[in-house]
Amino acid sequence: MRPPVLNPLFAPLSALPGIGAKLAKLFARLFGNEAEQPRVVDLLFHLPAGFVDRRNQPKLSAVVPDTVVTVAVTVDRHRPPPPHRPRAPYNIEAHDETNSLTITYFNARKDYLQKLLPEGERRYVSGTATLYDGHLQMVHPERVVSEAGFAKLPLLDPVYPLTEGLHPNQVRKAIELALDRVPALPEWQDTEWLKRNGFPAFAEALRTIHRPQTPADLEPQSPAWSRLAYDELLAGQLALALLRAHLRTRSGRGSAAEGVLRARIVAALPYSLTPSQQRAIDDIVTDLAQPNRMLRLLHGDVGSGKTVVALLAVATVIEAGRQAAFMAPTEILARQHFATIAPLAKAAGIRLAILTGRERGRERADILAALGAGDIDLIVGTHALFQEDVAFADLALAIIDEQHRFGVHQRLALARKGEAVDLLVLTATPIPRTLVLTYFGDMDISELREKPAGRQRIDTRALPLDRLEEVIDAVRRALDDGRRVYWVCPLIEESESVDLAAADARYESLQKRFGETVALVHGRMRGAEKDKAMARFASGAARILVATTVIEVGVDVPEASVMVIEHAERFGLAQLHQLRGRIGRGTERSTCLLLYKGPLGETAKARLAILRETDDGFRIAEEDLRLRGEGDLLGTRQSGMPGFRIARLESHGKLLSAAREDAALVLNRDPRLTSSRGAALRNLLYLFARDEAISLIGAG
Ligand code: ADP
Ligand code: MG
Repeated sequence: MRPPVLNPLFAPLSALPGIGAKLAKLFARLFGNEAEQPRVVDLLFHLPAGFVDRRNQPKLSAVVPDTVVTVAVTVDRHRPPPPHRPRAPYNIEAHDETNSLTITYFNARKDYLQKLLPEGERRYVSGTATLYDGHLQMVHPERVVSEAGFAKLPLLDPVYPLTEGLHPNQVRKAIELALDRVPALPEWQDTEWLKRNGFPAFAEALRTIHRPQTPADLEPQSPAWSRLAYDELLAGQLALALLRAHLRTRSGRGSAAEGVLRARIVAALPYSLTPSQQRAIDDIVTDLAQPNRMLRLLHGDVGSGKTVVALLAVATVIEAGRQAAFMAPTEILARQHFATIAPLAKAAGIRLAILTGRERGRERADILAALGAGDIDLIVGTHALFQEDVAFADLALAIIDEQHRFGVHQRLALARKGEAVDLLVLTATPIPRTLVLTYFGDMDISELREKPAGRQRIDTRALPLDRLEEVIDAVRRALDDGRRVYWVCPLIEESESVDLAAADARYESLQKRFGETVALVHGRMRGAEKDKAMARFASGAARILVATTVIEVGVDVPEASVMVIEHAERFGLAQLHQLRGRIGRGTERSTCLLLYKGPLGETAKARLAILRETDDGFRIAEEDLRLRGEGDLLGTRQSGMPGFRIARLESHGKLLSAAREDAALVLNRDPRLTSSRGAALRNLLYLFARDEAISLIGAG
């Protein structure tokens, strides 16, 4: 139950005077969550993106053209457009003791302007001053106020990100009302730490940012903003630490094995393990032998060979007489893992099954029965493994592939399927090191640093879409050489049907040229159709696979050595890297052609250049962040860390490790958050929507 003291902050926005259902909807869109009623706290965490500075109040003679100024003028004369030219500008002459100024409006109503700027009166006018024909002019001033109004006007006016249909003043007014509702809350941060950093209290921090006194108040590095960012980071770290503590409470059972099964698998591999694969396996085997629970992240760039490491972990628990589950984010990937693992499992005598949404009825019932009876050693599957009626005889190890697609809930759901299940999470997402922490908390990490031997750099080129014919020629040559080709078409959710049509059209046009050797796969196809297409491509029956991004994660056809990506400018850098990771898996030299539709913006240009330059996932991830940061400066997009509203990696990354240590310290002393600081921290978890973690420790 949410503490009642927080109620004013969790009240729906429509509880504020002047905000009706329609306006509340616009705010919901602004906060990026139209499914839910926006609440007062959402508004308070909507921080300004900039400000209008009204401190610049020169005399007219000192005005610098093209700057924002606030000037005090006396209104002389209205010059409405002549009756026969109603679209001409409406000019108002004004002056101070040094110069004159023309205030200009288009399509304005005369009675309105006469009230706003009455002749003979003094008014304060804010806006951008320009020079027109050597004469000072201001078009559509941002604000016009009387002397009394000016006294009430903030000198720094925050400017908020907006959505269509929402007026800046509506946001400002709503935030003013929300600020008045912030209750006095007990401090959840360590007071010494606050003092040392010069951080204000929570409510004061909110007021400082929304009612700034100096431009410095609005910088992410300011004490006020940093305080809120630290609050958010601490909430995140606390939630992760609670989850981890919960997973560890029931201590694990050791799964010791001599390594007979592992040896059989290694013997069946057509290659030898890389040193870092070997190291990762050693880490895992050590973890598994110990009675406490394993929580380990296996982090390796695309193509680094995580699957086989996972399989060797699986072999260890199976040799100890227990079971393992291997979960993939998509049906295609689950089927592929199943296909890769099957021959190795056979060689080692591991009983293997697959369970996805597609196994139904009798088939599913049989699998569940065998699983419950312990007649299946390893089950590979999708989300279907979470379902309630899936029960294991003795689940010892859960492997989750491509973790970033799953949330805390799902991790818990799978871990609950056995007694103290060991957890191994595989991720290929090139997350910069600092971010690993925010996503995964303090899991143990094994990294696959080097790629398997014999891999060659992928030759990557960018070409405008109008050179399509050349690309098709290159594809023809590749086919003549016996190579296999991925042809990727973008699929962006907002324009899904248009994109699907484009993928279909490309499939047809390639089929016209290359015939039956072209296959198509996309997310909207039925499972069996997808399988068929993938299988034809994997076996070489089809040699061109036209695909949407369903192949982004994990698909492994080592014989494919050419990739064409259409509309590369529409993909993010990390995504392009993931896609490209589907080739360059064999010993053959691979080629990636990035087709773009020009003209390219600066950021898109930079992205494609980075891909041509490097295939190091970490470098690419870092460049990605940098570019997104620059995108911010250009005003295109607010970056921030995924899942965070206030903290920015660039400005607050350093606070992250402090938050992590703080969370560990707090839970060490007060594991169930029952002290008075504990109670205050529960409030914090609610404020930043991390209260899911509270259900793990129960009421305070
Ligand atoms: P990812 O880490 O992206 O999941 P995979 O596990 O799919 O990578 O492995 C990519 C490819 O590399 C597979 O074809 C796999 O058989 C191969 N592979 C894995 N380990 C090695 C190795 N040590 N030497 C050579 N090839 C390897
Ligand atoms: Mg993989």
